[in-house]
Formats: sequence, C-alpha cells, structure tokens
Amino acid sequence: MGSRWGFRKLVCLAIFLLSSFSVFGANGPAVALSVDASDAPRKIFHAQLRIPAKPGTLTLYYPKWIPGEHGPTGPITDLTGLKFTASGKTLKWRRDRLDGFTFHVEVPAGENEVVANLDYASPAAVEPGYSSGMAATEKLYVVSWNTLLLYPAGYGSDQLTYSASLRLPAGWKFGTSLHVSSQVGSDIHFAPVSLTMLVDGPVITGEYLKVVPLTPPGEDPPAELDLAADSAAALEAPEEVWEHYRNLVKQAGILFGARHYTDYHFLLTLSDHVAHFGLEHHESNDSRAEERRLVEEDGRKLIAGLLPHEYVHSWNGKYRRPADLATPDYEQPMQTDLLWVYEGLTSYLGDVLTARSGELTPALSRDGLAQMAADLDHRSGRIWRDLQDTADGVPTMQSAPKAWEDYRRPVDYYDEDVLNWLWADVIIRQQTKGAKSLDDFCKLFHGAPSGPPMVKTYTFDDVVNGLNQVVAYDWRGFWTERLSNHGPGAPLAGIEGSGWKLVYDENPSELDRAQDRDGDRNGRSVNAHYSVGLVAGSDGAIQDTVEGMVAAKAGIGPGMKIVAVNGRRFSPEVWRDAMQAAKTSPSPIELIVENTDYFRVVKLDYHGGEKYPHLVRDESKPDLLTEIYRAK
Ligand SMILES: [Zn+2]
Repeated sequence: MGSRWGFRKLVCLAIFLLSSFSVFGANGPAVALSVDASDAPRKIFHAQLRIPAKPGTLTLYYPKWIPGEHGPTGPITDLTGLKFTASGKTLKWRRDRLDGFTFHVEVPAGENEVVANLDYASPAAVEPGYSSGMAATEKLYVVSWNTLLLYPAGYGSDQLTYSASLRLPAGWKFGTSLHVSSQVGSDIHFAPVSLTMLVDGPVITGEYLKVVPLTPPGEDPPAELDLAADSAAALEAPEEVWEHYRNLVKQAGILFGARHYTDYHFLLTLSDHVAHFGLEHHESNDSRAEERRLVEEDGRKLIAGLLPHEYVHSWNGKYRRPADLATPDYEQPMQTDLLWVYEGLTSYLGDVLTARSGELTPALSRDGLAQMAADLDHRSGRIWRDLQDTADGVPTMQSAPKAWEDYRRPVDYYDEDVLNWLWADVIIRQQTKGAKSLDDFCKLFHGAPSGPPMVKTYTFDDVVNGLNQVVAYDWRGFWTERLSNHGPGAPLAGIEGSGWKLVYDENPSELDRAQDRDGDRNGRSVNAHYSVGLVAGSDGAIQDTVEGMVAAKAGIGPGMKIVAVNGRRFSPEVWRDAMQAAKTSPSPIELIVENTDYFRVVKLDYHGGEKYPHLVRDESKPDLLTEIYRAK
C-alpha cells in the first residue's frame, strides 16, 4: 500500500545511516503489553503496558507514521482512557503542546516502572482509512498493534522488546506471523519480539476463520492463507482459488529467487463492514475486502490483484526500502519520493504475478492494463503535475476525496508506474534480444540470500545502477524523463513496444462488465470517462469529471447529480440508451442536473457513442506482453 511515517533521536538516526542494512535486534527496555479484545464486537479494546522507567519525566509516543501507510495515519483521535500509575499511585501526565502523539508522564522518586492503561475506541462506521479504519464486526477483528500501544522516547523500534498477550472473545480463532509461546483458552501469549516486528505482525481473529496451507508440507519457508469472514459461507471458495494462491507463492519464488521471511501469512478479512485496503508486512499482509469476494465469479476478478501486490511488498518495500522512507521509529516523518519504486514496481510485479499465478486470464490482465492506460491517457492532472510530485506529496494528500481525483491525481505513482515499469521491461528485452528481462533485475535487486526479515535500503542511484547491471542503457535519463514529464497523454510506449495497441470501442470488456455489475462499490456504475469525461454512481451522483472534456465544458462537476436524461428519470440504462441514440441524432443529449438544491438543464453536444478501452494485437511487433504474463 501507500503510507506515511515519523522521526526520532539523533543518535538512532546516525546509527541507522551508518549502514544500509538493518537487522532487527534489541538492546533497549523490554515492555510487557497485554491487550483485552474480548469486547471486539463493541469495537473497544483495552491495553495495559508495563514500561521500565526512571524518576523524572517519561516521554511516550503513540505510533504516528505507520509503515506501509506512507503518512501520519496513527488513529490518535481514537486513543482514550489513558491512565498512568506507579506502585498503584496515579501519575500526572500532559500531552506535548507541539505534537499530539507525544505524552509526558511524571515518575516519582523510587519508581522504576510505569503501568500505562489505554483504550482504543475504534471506528464504529466505515470511513476512509487504512489500519485506522473500521476493523471489528460482530464476528471478526484485525489487531493492528500500533493502535494499542505506547513506546518510550529515546530508542529506535528495533531496540525495544515487546512481550505481547491477547485475550480474544470466547471461541474465536486467530492467524498471525507472530510466534505463539503459550495459549490457555482465549488467552494467547506471543514470543517477545522487537517493537518493529510486533507492529509488523497483525493478528486476524474471528468466529469464522479458515487456514489454507499454500506450500507443501515440510517446505521451508512455509506460507499460508488465514481468512476471517462475517459468515462461514464466505470462506467456501472453489478449490481453484486456493490453487491460484499456491501458484502465486511458487511464481514469486521463481521471480525473485529468494524469500525474506521465515513463515508467511496472507491475512485476508472478508466483510462489508470493515475498511477495504491491503497493508504489507515482512511476513504477512493485512488485506480486507467485501464479504463475498471469493465465492462470486465477478468478485474473484475484482479482488485478484490484491494479495499479489501485498505479497510482492515483502521483497519490494519491506526488504528493499527507500533509505529516506526507512525511519527508526514511528515519530519521525517519512519521505516518499521513491514510492515510484516502492509502490510503482510493486503494482507492475503484482499484476504480472496475478497473471502468472492464473488468478486472472491473460485477456483479463490486458483488460486491467487497458483501463489503467485509458484512465491515464485522459488524466487532466498530468498537465499541471508530474509523476514525481504525486509521490512527494502523498503524506499530505492520500486521504483526498474522490471528487476532483482526475485533476488532482493523488496517487498516480501506482498506475502510471505500471506503464513505466512495463516500458523498462520491454527496453531490457529489446536491448538484450530477449536474453534478459525485468525478472533479472528482481533477482539482482530483491533476491539472494534468503533469510529472516531485514531491511536493505536503496537510493535513486542504486535503482539506476541495478538496471545498468542488467543491461547498459540511459536509465538515469529514462527515469528522470518519466518522473518529470507532463501530459497530455499517458506513457504508452511500453504497451506499444510489447506488441499491443490501446483502442476504444463501444463494447465493455469482461472486466468492465464485472465492475458494472459490482455497481456503486467501485464508483463506476456509469463510466463515461473516455467519452464525455464523467463517472457517476447508479443514482446519477457525479463522482468526478475530466477537465477539458465535454461534460466539464458544459458546466458539470463532481458533487452534482444527473436527475434526468432526455426528459426521462436517470438510470444507467437510460444514460446508455441516450448515448447510443445521440450517435445518429444531430440533437445534443439533454440532462437535468441538480446542484446544491437547484436544477439546471445541461446540453452535451456529443455523438461519439460509448467508449471502452481494449488492447489489440499489433502484428508488426513480437508479443512480449503474453510472454511477460506467462507462468515461469
Ligand atoms: Zn502497495
């Protein structure tokens, strides 16, 4: 995923910068953390920490910059019930006046431990957000440890040891990459780990929980899929689903040639009532999607890329990480300028592995690529904003609303970099006459030796040098141009060099049809993005318009609502009929649009019919894309 972070003690930063390798080993204080999640359906969680302390002021942080979220997203507004004691006496505390995530506690003479109690009053409705979003229902809960703890100032998260325990609602099961040291009934004790690895080890829990092994018995390292759902029925996916995820683990091993975990857990939550996202960790991923995604055919198409993307992050993002993004704790801000590698390359490789694992057919994979290319080819925001700025700006922009997304283009370092990394892959294949590919870069940059989680940082120069080791080329010039270039138009040279062309016709692709049937959940019930330049829900509510296209020029903008089309009440079908009829009529399409309680007639002088993107074969060139998508 994309995300955000924070800053700390100079001494820790200096140590960190001395080496580009960080191995998680601790020499700081040991903290005991016990979390009571037995009230999970009420969405309130109780934590107690025993923190070594000295008399004087003890400064504690609530995690602010959360790894993988690329911003200061720690849910400080939901931190409640704070109380500090020593030897049973209540201690005075005050929040820092410059940083609301920092707390100062007065420790009396003679005390060497502070007991901190806190409650995490978690969201009770689905709002935008990642691990700060809704995580608990009547039947399941995902434990994000960073929401449930404080940590002492003066140490990097690698230096602090946390011994965590967790109490679950009676009868609930769980899955996690953390090692269990003991369990009695619903009380689980985990083996002590660094704070880094605790925050890196979320726990999925629920009444309905299924474990699917993804590696053969005895294979090292093992991988498994742990699923929690709001119903038992949602876990009964056809066998082919598990087979595709087994292929994913196999194909990723072939792609990278090494693994940087000791035991990998895909943690997949299936609920209509939790925030939907994926968040990467070294040895797991916390992915959350709609309840019936795996048991419905359309749902499987729409969820296909989620787990491959998050799994790729174990190599690209967690093991190899931009040096200025790899901060020693959760208080120091993260710099996001290299997200075009962290997220962009992950998006490309995730899509490649989605195809190689068989989760999507080559045709559906091409449909997805065509959509991405078409969206970017119409991206009005490309005119004012280069790709580098989309990465640089994300800590302050990623919670931006859907309205004006096309003009704002908040996170294009995901999709536009799929096109750019495809282009790089094609260049390597062309320059080496097919002898090498981006797979060779992955083996070099992300590969051997295998081992437990660690961080090996990189800079822009390291990426350029790595590519030059695969094949000599002006990679510095290539990426500088890709990152600073302005539109209009998307970078399509990768698609074209791979033997395919982006075209439009009136027929929705298989993927378009699946999204249409999914309705408002994907916000594309009416996807007129490439024709008149608007996207609307099934009720006519306009989510976004494209600056410079027909709808925007006619005076339509996000937040308005199409009430009627050619005199008839709006529905997606009425809209499509009008688009079809306008092809052979000289009259404009006449809309009644509601805006802030006023109604207005708007005329769209458009006669080009519906437009949907596809990739078609260019027989004058070799078909590299099919080779890229083929299982190895
Ligand atoms: Zn990601």
